[in-house]
Amino acid sequence: MKEKIILTGDRPTGRLHIGHFVGSLRRRVELQNSGEYDKIFIMIADAQALTDNADNPEKIRQNVIEVALDYLACGLDPSKSTIFIQSAVPELTELAFYYMNLVTVSRLQRNPTVKTEIQMRNFETSIPVGFFTYPISQASDITAFKATTVPVGEDQKPMLEQTMEIVRRFNYIYGETLVEPQILLPDNAACLRLPGTDGKAKMSKSLGNCIYLSDSADEVKKKIRSMYTDPDHLRVQDPGKIEGNTVFTYLDAFCTQEHVDKYLPDYPTLDALKEHYQRGGLGDVKCKNFLNAVMEDVLAPIRERRKQFEQDIPAVYEMLRRGCEKAREQAAITLDEVRSAMKINYFDDAELIAEQAKRFKELSNQK
Ligand code: ATP
Ligand code: MG
Repeated sequence: MKEKIILTGDRPTGRLHIGHFVGSLRRRVELQNSGEYDKIFIMIADAQALTDNADNPEKIRQNVIEVALDYLACGLDPSKSTIFIQSAVPELTELAFYYMNLVTVSRLQRNPTVKTEIQMRNFETSIPVGFFTYPISQASDITAFKATTVPVGEDQKPMLEQTMEIVRRFNYIYGETLVEPQILLPDNAACLRLPGTDGKAKMSKSLGNCIYLSDSADEVKKKIRSMYTDPDHLRVQDPGKIEGNTVFTYLDAFCTQEHVDKYLPDYPTLDALKEHYQRGGLGDVKCKNFLNAVMEDVLAPIRERRKQFEQDIPAVYEMLRRGCEKAREQAAITLDEVRSAMKINYFDDAELIAEQAKRFKELSNQK
């Protein structure tokens, strides 16, 4: 039976936030602990982060350890999941270089996520080539590990589509070599693309609208207090809107029935709270206090575990070093297969050398 393999990761452009948590991280930990996967690779995508941060290498360097700590704090376990750094596996770069021949410029230009990100970064006239081609590099990350499952947020959908196209084209030209991955999106709609605390479409490190997993209880409280709700809900007695109201989106993403029973015994369900808000007579402050209690239930244990791992930073680097070695071994196997399929494996092909020797002998005999 085909092995079940997971590959996913994050850019070390900042500490991880609750959007990462609901979009991918929470799921990864569940999948890891389900025991259903043969191999799990979690990548800190430093090379990709450099594609739009080339002038700020220190930022990437600092955040590699932050992301590693966030992983451990959330429950990723190095004995079950291989955590590694992208740049330490040069096979990935080599593979991306070959894939570039299989993708057109116009295909890259159609990628909706890249389009949005280019706008966000004001890159319109000066897009670094590396940034423009990062979907190709992502295809190489996924396929180098023969990943069958990629748990990510919705913004990654176009990357997976691009990967599928590359896999099909590669296998068509060079013979069946690569594995087609499947995207695994969050099943809860609020988690597909968690909005920022400012109500903007996506919580993102680059937009500064995040609640970080490592924020202190005080910071979280402040951020929730100033969070975007329904701008027309001015007085408590006014009817309020749920749609686009970030407090309720976050409750959809994090609140369980136990939270309602524990903190709001007057309401049977979260839906009942929403109905009250829509009817009027329920203030933002009460909803925000409830959200804060829910978030604390989720974040306090993560924060605690992070503090423990922070006590031994050299051990975290050692864990990463071992992960890099393991990841590299795996990618090297795929690269051998790729080079052989692409006919660029000159030295481990005894048949090739014998054939060429024979051909040149025949040529010289004819003269
Ligand atoms: P950057 O701004 O540097 O791109 P980011 O916050 O978008 O950072 P990434 O490292 O690009 O984070 O994304 C890592 C993973 O987290 C991806 O699987 C992505 O889909 C998921 N993710 C990021 N932001 C969100 C969000 N707001 N909601 C759901 N998933 C998210
Ligand atoms: Mg991103």
